[in-house]
Amino acid sequence: MERGEILRWLQEMDESRLEELWKKADEQRKASVGDEVHQRGLIEISNYCIRQCRYCGISACSSGITRYRMTRDEILEAVHEAVRLGYGSVVMQSGEDPGLTVAFIAGIIRTIKEETDLAVTLSLGEREDDELRAWKDAGADRYLLRFETSDPELYERIHPALPGKVSDRFAQLERMRDMGYEIGTGVMVGIPGQSWITLAADIDTFRYYDMDMIGVGPFLPSPRTLLGGPEAADFYLSPQDQVPNDELTTLKTVALTRLVCPEANIPSTTALATVDPQSGRELGLMRGANVVMPNVTPTKYRVLYEIYPGKACMHETALVCSSCMERRIRSIGRVPGKGPGGRRRKI
Ligand code: SAH
Repeated sequence: MERGEILRWLQEMDESRLEELWKKADEQRKASVGDEVHQRGLIEISNYCIRQCRYCGISACSSGITRYRMTRDEILEAVHEAVRLGYGSVVMQSGEDPGLTVAFIAGIIRTIKEETDLAVTLSLGEREDDELRAWKDAGADRYLLRFETSDPELYERIHPALPGKVSDRFAQLERMRDMGYEIGTGVMVGIPGQSWITLAADIDTFRYYDMDMIGVGPFLPSPRTLLGGPEAADFYLSPQDQVPNDELTTLKTVALTRLVCPEANIPSTTALATVDPQSGRELGLMRGANVVMPNVTPTKYRVLYEIYPGKACMHETALVCSSCMERRIRSIGRVPGKGPGGRRRKI
C-alpha cells in the first residue's frame, strides 16, 4: 500500500468503505499472527523523569506529583504476579530516571530470567549504549521506544532534547536492533501539530524500519502539561489539517499498521480503552491488534504513574484486570496467548 493510499484511508469517513478496511486488517491479523492475544504484564517501575516532554503528565515539568521508584522486591513480586496470572512476558516501564541504574535493572533482569520463563521488555526511555548492552547481556529480550512522530520539527517541539544532547530515537532503535533486541515503537494519534500527512508518514515509517512491535493510542491531554494547557493553541493546525485524537482515527491507524506490518505485535492500548472504556480494547483487537498489556503495578503506585488523566484500569488489582481482560478476549472469539509471544517471521 502506497503512502497516498494510507492517507486516503486515514481520511475515509464512509462507514461501508471502512468496513472493508476493518475486514482486510482483521483477515491480515488472522493470517499473519493468528487468534492468540498475548498478554504482557506492565510494571510501571518509576515515575521519576528528567525529560520535559510536552505531552507527558509525569515529565520533569509536572509539579505536585508524588514521585516513586519501586524496590527490587516490589518489582519481583509484580513479576511473580504476572507468572501466576499466566502472562508470557513483562514490560518494565518508567520515566527517564537515572536513579534506575544499570546494575539495578540488570540484576532484576537476571533474577527474572533465573526464576521464570518470561520474556523481558524494557521501556525506560533514551539510554546510553553501554546500559542497553548490559541489559541485553543480562537477558532482556525487547525494548519499547515510541518515536512519537516522524516529523522532525514537531518532534523537537514536543520532545526537547536534554541540554548538550541529541534526541534521536530512530538511531537508538536501530542500535538496539543490532544489539539483538526486538524493537518496539509507536506514536500518539492526534497530538497537536500532527497533520494527516504526518500520520500517514508515521505508518509508512513503521514499515520502513520493519518494527517488531507497534503501539498506537490517542493523545490524551494532561492538564499538568504544556499540550494540555492554553499554550497548546500554538500547536494546533487548521481543523482540516489537524488529526483528531479520537477513537475512529486510532482504529484506522491500528488497521493500516497491521496491513503494512503484517507480522508485527500490535497492542490494543490502554489509551484506546481510556477513550472507549466499554469496547475500545475489543475494537482494537478486532481491527488489527493481537496484544494487550494488563497492568500488574501495585495499585498504590499505579495511580501515581499518571501520564494522562483518567487512565483505564487505574484502580483495579492485577487479578481483576486479568479476569476482565480474559473475558474481553474470549467475548470476541479469541484466545489468550501462551508463551512469550515473540515476533513471528515468515520463513
Ligand atoms: N519514558 C518512556 C516511557 C514513556 S510512557 C519513554 O519516553 O519512552 C509511554 C508512552 O506513553 C509514550 O511513549 C507516549 O507515546 C505515551 N504518552 C505519554 N503521554 C501521553 C498522553 N498525554 N496521551 C497519550 N499517550 C501518552
